[in-house]
Amino acid sequence: MDIILLGAPGAGKGTQAKVLEERSGLVHVASGDLFRAALRQGTELGMLAKSYMDRGELVPDEVVIRMIVERISRPDCRMGVIFDGFPRTLEQAEALEQELQHHDRRIDRVIYLKVPEQVLLRRIAGRQTCKTCGATYNIYYFPSKRPDICDLCRGKLYQRNDDNLETARHRLEVYFSQTMPLIEYYTQQNSMVEVDGQREISLVTDIMLQSIGINGDNAEKQV
Ligand code: AMP
Repeated sequence: MDIILLGAPGAGKGTQAKVLEERSGLVHVASGDLFRAALRQGTELGMLAKSYMDRGELVPDEVVIRMIVERISRPDCRMGVIFDGFPRTLEQAEALEQELQHHDRRIDRVIYLKVPEQVLLRRIAGRQTCKTCGATYNIYYFPSKRPDICDLCRGKLYQRNDDNLETARHRLEVYFSQTMPLIEYYTQQNSMVEVDGQREISLVTDIMLQSIGINGDNAEKQV
């Protein structure tokens, strides 16, 4: 089973994808995480991506597509993938479809996490991530117990370069102009469900699980 999580930056895709991955056995593939990992490793791909990410612009389609095609060709993705942050343009969506077709696969479900713009801005600008374990917090909605220290591993919390208010605003503009058309695209394909991303995190998880055929709390793996 292959699933796309669609939604603006700050809609909660990453948070939900981690839970879905645990519950479904599918592999979470987040294009933004792949770029950040490439950057940490100092690769050419990472350096190239950084120049776009820091400005809140999209990395060119051919670069993203090549990276994703390579990632999903690995054995761990054979049973299915939760795509997070990809596709972001129609060209990426078409490339993904073609690539899956080569392997007799298709997108089974697109889950659109809908959140109003003013909430998105606060969510992005308040976001903090643990340098050590990757846990995420939000200074407005879900602060760590001690400022800037991870509750789970005591690692240091940091703010992503592109999570400042100015870049966040631009990322949202880019999302509305370049990624929103995908909502229409997938609606026409009848593969999309819309979920209110402002509801409680665990409730959103349950609705998402149900939409891919897994019961809410304590569900057996069924995918
Ligand atoms: P994210 O972590 O999904 O918010 O992505 C962070 C940044 O990585 C974005 O603002 C883009 O610069 C870049 N990026 C991630 N995914 C894509 C994509 N599918 N297409 C183009 N750029 C992307």
